[in-house]
Amino acid sequence: PPPRAPLPPFFFSLLRRFFFPPPLGAARDPPPATPDSGGIRFDVYPHPYSRGALAYSLGDRWDRTDLTFYFRNCPRTIDCDTGWNAVRDGFRAWAEQTVLAFTEVDDPRDADIELSWSANAPELGWPGDVLAFATFPSDGGDIVFDDAEPWTVYDQGPFDLHMVATHEIGHALGLDHSSIPTALMYPVLTPQTTGLTSDDIAGIQALYGTPDQRPPEQENRNVPTGDALEDIVVMGEISDVFPYEIWEFEAYAGETLTMTMTATSGDLSPYLGLLTDDETILLAESGPARDGVAQLTYTFDRDGIYVLVATREGVEDGTTAGNYELSLTAGEAALPPAATPVDGELLYFDIRSYTAMDICEVYVSPSSDPEWGENLLRDVLTNGNLLELRKSPGLYDVLVVGCNGTELEKYEINAERSLAVEVYDNDLYVHVYPR
Ligand SMILES: [Zn+2]
Repeated sequence: PPPRAPLPPFFFSLLRRFFFPPPLGAARDPPPATPDSGGIRFDVYPHPYSRGALAYSLGDRWDRTDLTFYFRNCPRTIDCDTGWNAVRDGFRAWAEQTVLAFTEVDDPRDADIELSWSANAPELGWPGDVLAFATFPSDGGDIVFDDAEPWTVYDQGPFDLHMVATHEIGHALGLDHSSIPTALMYPVLTPQTTGLTSDDIAGIQALYGTPDQRPPEQENRNVPTGDALEDIVVMGEISDVFPYEIWEFEAYAGETLTMTMTATSGDLSPYLGLLTDDETILLAESGPARDGVAQLTYTFDRDGIYVLVATREGVEDGTTAGNYELSLTAGEAALPPAATPVDGELLYFDIRSYTAMDICEVYVSPSSDPEWGENLLRDVLTNGNLLELRKSPGLYDVLVVGCNGTELEKYEINAERSLAVEVYDNDLYVHVYPR
């Protein structure tokens, strides 16, 4: 095959998630009330009563183009990886239009832009009021999302996290609000908001320049070619509500690629389908090649955009669910090593508090054990703090007891990889740590 042409930094992109209505009887929340303007305000920051320019409007800018970002916590109302991926896609949208390059870091001390979800920040008002806010680069460029909002992804609805995040990232990069109603930087999210418009792109390029002004070394660093292709991994989730996710990618004539879908949480039994870009012709499909792994290898006979359907065995009739990683590797690839660690290896099984409620007791016991055992807490666990535990791989039940008597439980947590059980006001969420 010919050498790979340069690709954008993340070239696997989620097109959409197939939605199936819930079964009859499973009541859905009524749609939220929105202001009469026909949309919902993104934020009140930076200038709540901005006069607005003729079009885009500039705040200030970073003094460099290599920027880092860091997620402080997970959203409460949607799965963490799903939320973070929607935000990462927002960074990508801006990076594609200018010289900026973004790197995610795992230490807040290395971060330019910090992102968090909070239900307490006074700027956020009440649910359905302000969705998020951000500061300009000169004020730190950080972004806070309202954790009380019922976030969704890629549905272009009033709580589409991808749209809101991309708007807020615009502020964090130095853009103020635009006066063009279809622009993403317009202060109101409306049904006409579909992503970056020429006005938004003109704004970001006025601050940082066009992509062709990218310094050559940066170009090399961000463009996966040849062997670096192995590093392309995205994450998704299959659930009863969204039993399919559709991804698109680019392939070249004569190229052989191996697509691997690996379950990372839950009991997901993965299934992959490869289609032409109009989604009419199925080129190849594969169910589980081994527990938790589906894999396809295909040699493409023409250049083009192709579509991968990530789903579960049995598709909408299936019963399994969970998070997965999807990777794209050049050539024929072996199955990834089994997820089960060798005997004796211990995982992190952390308990992290994201609730204002003080926690007095934590119990973690194997699901096969009828007793909870001993309280693992020596001191009260407070908001923002962590109880660090190490466990053998296996199924565990968790009971968290607030000092006010509130009990939160989660059963049969499948610990195949290090994870954190995150404690929110009314729920426990499992967050699997990246490898
Ligand atoms: Zn705004």
